[in-house]
Amino acid sequence: MSYPNTQLYIDGIWREATGGRVIPVLNPATGREIGTVAHAAREDLDAALAAAERGFQIWKAVPAYERAKLMRAAAALLRERADTIAPILVMENGKPLAQAKMEIAGAADVIEWFAGEAPRTYGQVIPSRATDVLQFTVKGPVGPVAAFTPWNFPINQVVRKLCAALAAGCSIIVKAPEETPASPAALIAVFADAGLPAGVMNLVYGIPAEISEYLIPHPVIRKISFTGSTPVGKQLAALAGLHMKRATMELGGHAPVIVAGDADLDLAVPQIGMHKFRNAGQVCVSPTRFLVQESLHEDFAARFTAIAKKVKVGDGLDPETEMGPLSNARRVPALEALVQDAVDQGARLTTGGRRLGNEGYFFEPTVLVDVPLSARIMHEEPFGPIAVINRFTTLDEAIAEANRLPFGLAAYAYTSDTATATRLGHEIEAGMLTINHLGIALPEVPFGGMKDSGHGTEGGSEAIEAYLETRFVTRKG
Ligand code: NAD
Repeated sequence: MSYPNTQLYIDGIWREATGGRVIPVLNPATGREIGTVAHAAREDLDAALAAAERGFQIWKAVPAYERAKLMRAAAALLRERADTIAPILVMENGKPLAQAKMEIAGAADVIEWFAGEAPRTYGQVIPSRATDVLQFTVKGPVGPVAAFTPWNFPINQVVRKLCAALAAGCSIIVKAPEETPASPAALIAVFADAGLPAGVMNLVYGIPAEISEYLIPHPVIRKISFTGSTPVGKQLAALAGLHMKRATMELGGHAPVIVAGDADLDLAVPQIGMHKFRNAGQVCVSPTRFLVQESLHEDFAARFTAIAKKVKVGDGLDPETEMGPLSNARRVPALEALVQDAVDQGARLTTGGRRLGNEGYFFEPTVLVDVPLSARIMHEEPFGPIAVINRFTTLDEAIAEANRLPFGLAAYAYTSDTATATRLGHEIEAGMLTINHLGIALPEVPFGGMKDSGHGTEGGSEAIEAYLETRFVTRKG
């Protein structure tokens, strides 16, 4: 199966970087080089900025209905090409083919949903104090956007930012992940092939810090959107603040899962178990701290461990595979160290904990039970296939533990008691809480965090707001 080399897309043209520099791309299932991605030079970034400035003037003048039509055409192309793009996504990221196909289908849904939002950017007529005064607000695109996206969902992390920007009438420069460049480029290609005017959408790769330090302060750029780790998000948000740029930050998490004593384990364990190991746990909303009420704790831990032991780990292109490798070599020692530290502190390792095989970046599905708060994993996001299963006695305790960390992205709960569910809905400090099912990350619902997990939302009706400016007009006579 062939893997394409990835070029930059600037001002409507696919091209190599100035100077011809490239970065190698590795297959995480083998550790071997499979291709390259163009490494943008300063001249390329300047070209992308100039294109985005021109593209903004063109795109903001296109009626919202026309923007929506083009976006729907891009969604149709993406669906048509899904079977070609999915193996490319697997080869560069490692996830199982079925998950790659789901990611692409989900991206097409996101495009269509934002296309629907494009004509709904309503302003308001505000009742005035005088009969001859008309006062109203108008919403318009904020301007050229710089978007920075990570490697865990190479297509979906781009599509949410790209579509909110395009629906609002903004132009955009996407800095997509160098580790997984070809599948986001395939997404960009469907918009290009659907006829998006040159300059409206630009795609670059290179050294992330160099690109963000150049683009964020640049006067052409009016809005930043970043998905990645909390430490990097804080740096970029500070830079955006310094230059008065609006910013959406979708950062790390450490999701708690509260399993109350009245929960249905036949429902909870298989559902949340497979969810833990999706994308090898490299998901910002991945369930991490399982807090199980004392009466169910041992049963839950035993059943969860049995599920972890059965997960079929392998190359994502093998149809039997349920969990692929980690996407980056650097995550393997990072996870091994987190497990070793937890065990040293007294945690019980019921399965996993080590690298699998000698090739690629495979890691065993791992379960740690009764992990003390002194362990690093109780504070740091593992971003891998590791579950921590701890116990609690009262709901007060569980809520306090769930809210203990500075993160506040996703949270999960299982209970058959309405009062417990209602209380959790009020008291859990997370941008998203899903109870008795897995219901987050749909295009039409908010997707975002609070506290150190960032601010802003990338889903639901509020998502487009981040790309709009509200202007007030008052007229007498
Ligand atoms: P990292 O912090 O080095 O990088 C995370 C992402 O940010 C990468 O895509 C990287 O290219 C980008 N990045 C890093 N420095 C940047 C800069 N100065 N300017 C612009 N972009 C920059 O971490 P990593 O080792 O790649 O991934 C592990 C950690 O990243 C995890 O612990 C997790 O918290 C976080 N992460 C979060 C998400 C998410 O969906 N929220 C996705 C991927 C990674």
